[in-house]
Amino acid sequence: MPALTATLSKVGNCLHPVRLVGQSETVDLRTGEIVETYRSGNEPMGLLYKPCGNRRADVCPPCSRIYARDTFELISTGLHGGKGVPVTVNTNPLLFVTLTAPSFGPVHAVRDGRQPCHPRTRLAMCPHGRRLTCWTRHDVLDPRVGAPLCRDCYDTESAVVWQWHAPELWRRFTIAMRRQLAVELGVRDVDLKRHVRVEYAKVAEFQTRGLVHFHALVRIDGPDGPGSPAQVTAAALENVVRQAAVAAHCPALPLDESDVARTLRFGAQTDVRVVRDRSVAGDEITAEQVAAYLAKYSTKSAGVEPGHALPHLVWLSESCRALAARALAGCPFGCGKRVGDRRPRLCGDCAGHPYALLGRWASMLGFRGHFSTKSRHYSVTLGALRRARRRFQGMAVEARSRATALDARELEERLMAEAAETTLVIGSWVYDGSGWPRAGDKALADAAASRARAYARWRAEQRTTQPA
Ligand SMILES: [Zn+2]
Ligand SMILES: [Zn+2]
Ligand SMILES: [Zn+2]
Ligand SMILES: [Zn+2]
Repeated sequence: MPALTATLSKVGNCLHPVRLVGQSETVDLRTGEIVETYRSGNEPMGLLYKPCGNRRADVCPPCSRIYARDTFELISTGLHGGKGVPVTVNTNPLLFVTLTAPSFGPVHAVRDGRQPCHPRTRLAMCPHGRRLTCWTRHDVLDPRVGAPLCRDCYDTESAVVWQWHAPELWRRFTIAMRRQLAVELGVRDVDLKRHVRVEYAKVAEFQTRGLVHFHALVRIDGPDGPGSPAQVTAAALENVVRQAAVAAHCPALPLDESDVARTLRFGAQTDVRVVRDRSVAGDEITAEQVAAYLAKYSTKSAGVEPGHALPHLVWLSESCRALAARALAGCPFGCGKRVGDRRPRLCGDCAGHPYALLGRWASMLGFRGHFSTKSRHYSVTLGALRRARRRFQGMAVEARSRATALDARELEERLMAEAAETTLVIGSWVYDGSGWPRAGDKALADAAASRARAYARWRAEQRTTQPA
């Protein structure tokens, strides 16, 4: 196999692999013996290539697909069990919850049934002389969708401050949910664990107006953890979630002296759907649809990449930088001028300012949270899935080199086994750079990735068109 082909297949056609130079030794912990020495110089291309592992489809399609697949596994094992999660989790009530950002002013929107965007019979004008009407029937691809009708009327400060605190608001929602559940069951907060456990997996998704929504699967387990029977119905849990969504709030400090303190909350459009009540499936959506939906959105980006950036998102991103600069404007050391830097050098006072890093997160429109997270006992972790994949690759390579078939017995148990490692890997590595060293190699990686994609599509079509 040519060196490049072999390396491409090892990194799964990653577009920007990390290059490493060095060596590692595998030591048997029982005997202290070096059982294997690995040198990057022995690799086909003379360096060790590692996939970039980027989540975003616009950065690295092959790595983002692995991320989406892992996210799908993570969510679906929490739905059906498997990979070490008891299968009885599929008898516990499960909800699909969407929490939105509040409104910060009217924006162009797609209306159900292709209705006009903001129809008003009278000529309504804002104080800035802009019309507050829009008779366009927007479709989803219209770049105006999500843009404010008037940027000057839109409460940009509050929108950015909300997004900056969104992860904290979510955290407070989960606390409110547990508290509300304790009220529902008539027990004290501290005793709740002895009755039920709430587990969730959530993803953040950017809406067209540039603010995140949270989508979450919320499952209720009994006191003995995943899969133990819970004495709460889906309807009761729905009630708890709705009340927690209203109750959750988070204080936000003013940006500067001319600004106001805010109390941030979720928007009114909380959506709660029953996916499953005990073992009875809800009729609106299936668990698979939810898992696929969540996995898909975990790879979306904010939509401000150069090239195909939407004007209103570029403007929101610039607003993050401007507001960070405004927050630090009073600094005698000029920190306010550096807020847009990748690693801004800030004085002690500014480093402790709550909005000091807002400029650094401008490309994520001020959202600094994780795109997919879960509570500890929801299901497996991404780390465990990655470890399992590495083990599988190791086993496959070994089987190939011995020209034997991969031993499939208890494969899943072996792959997902918690690290009871008997060997230790000691390595010394130097970062050589990232990406493919020659421009032509990147083109080949691109081509290989799109071939793999076409093949996967073809396989999927075969599966759906073939009679069962
Ligand atoms: Zn990659
Ligand atoms: Zn409109
Ligand atoms: Zn206006
Ligand atoms: Zn400063």
